[in-house]
Amino acid sequence: MSDSKSQTRCRVCESTSLFTYLDLGSTPLANSYLKKEELSSPEFREELAIQVCTRCGLSQLTKVVHPDLMFKNYLYVSSTTETFRNHCAEMAATLSKRAECKSGDVVLDIASNDGCLLSKFKEVGMRVVGVDPAVNLAREANANGIKTLNTYWSSTVAAEIKATIGKPKVITATNVFAHVDDVHEFIKAVDLCMEEMGIFVIEFPYVLDFIEKNEFDTAYHEHLSYFGITPIAHLMNMHNLQVFDIEYFKDLHGGTTRIYVSRNNDFPVNSSVKKYLDREAQFHITKQDPYRAFAERVMRNKERLLILLDAERQKGKIIWAYGASAKGNTLINFFSILSDQIPVVIDDNPKKWHYYTPGSRMRITGIEELATVHVDTLLLLAWNFQEEIIGRCKAVGYKGSYILPCPEPKIVT
Ligand SMILES: [Zn+2]
Repeated sequence: MSDSKSQTRCRVCESTSLFTYLDLGSTPLANSYLKKEELSSPEFREELAIQVCTRCGLSQLTKVVHPDLMFKNYLYVSSTTETFRNHCAEMAATLSKRAECKSGDVVLDIASNDGCLLSKFKEVGMRVVGVDPAVNLAREANANGIKTLNTYWSSTVAAEIKATIGKPKVITATNVFAHVDDVHEFIKAVDLCMEEMGIFVIEFPYVLDFIEKNEFDTAYHEHLSYFGITPIAHLMNMHNLQVFDIEYFKDLHGGTTRIYVSRNNDFPVNSSVKKYLDREAQFHITKQDPYRAFAERVMRNKERLLILLDAERQKGKIIWAYGASAKGNTLINFFSILSDQIPVVIDDNPKKWHYYTPGSRMRITGIEELATVHVDTLLLLAWNFQEEIIGRCKAVGYKGSYILPCPEPKIVT
């Protein structure tokens, strides 16, 4: 297998009118945590840069890394945050109602992770099935009674589910669609197995947030596409499907968009769809200018943060970081911060402890260690959870300051 390939056409409309606007350099995979014995070996690296299609407005990476390098052994576990667990419960209740599900109807979750969302659908009486390529997560979900097929989503899997379990009335894909290279095959497979009057619901980070809120740290190799409604509605139309409603959750993963998709004319189209399309037209989603301005802001942000960190280190301050997430890894690698500047990063997921971050090679530990050593400043890589994190640090007796890297670098005491 080849490790990666260049993306020379738009994944949605196949146009070659692509404008590269953000180059974050050659970085390791943001979720490839290292064991201690791996620290002496070189890491896989690939260009991390984003281009926009000036025909349909899709933003996508310039390089596609082979999925097996990224998803076979995934440390991220969705149910670790309470916010996400609550969101799953809300989603199960809302979607069952909107699709008018009866007890025993089938719900399919694509990239079902540890089965968190499906467990909520099961609680409200649905039959559930998940599909996930990560061996460890599929095993965990099955052990917890959530039937999970350990593979990638495809037409073959769709046909198998249709034949052995039944046609799903609800199909969900949360935070996976942006990771998909062949989006047309993905949608075809959904259409192949979905029940009559079924609904397909996708959740993804919104490209206008990415640009307007300076969320460049949500760029990583797994995140192949940065969707607005304009390109996604175009994609659905190509498959005789329609986006019929849109909701937005501002507190989930720094802003999450949920779209409702059905076969054409199955459901009335809510005014929210036009509202989004109008907003994106006003933003100039297919023009180069808004993206060029964004890239300039990101570069300024980098300069300012490095000056700020340097000043702290000149004063002899001991700096640790908080949040060994993919976004944290993008940020530290793009800013070229290494373990001699920040040796340790705290993370709440015990599965990551004793690993090292890709590229920067910071040791990952739990918050308990913060109580036992002297640290002056914490760089909050998970800056979207700042209030929650500051609360937790205070609770273990941490008295130092915090550096917020985005959307504008600043020190909080
Ligand atoms: Zn396009």
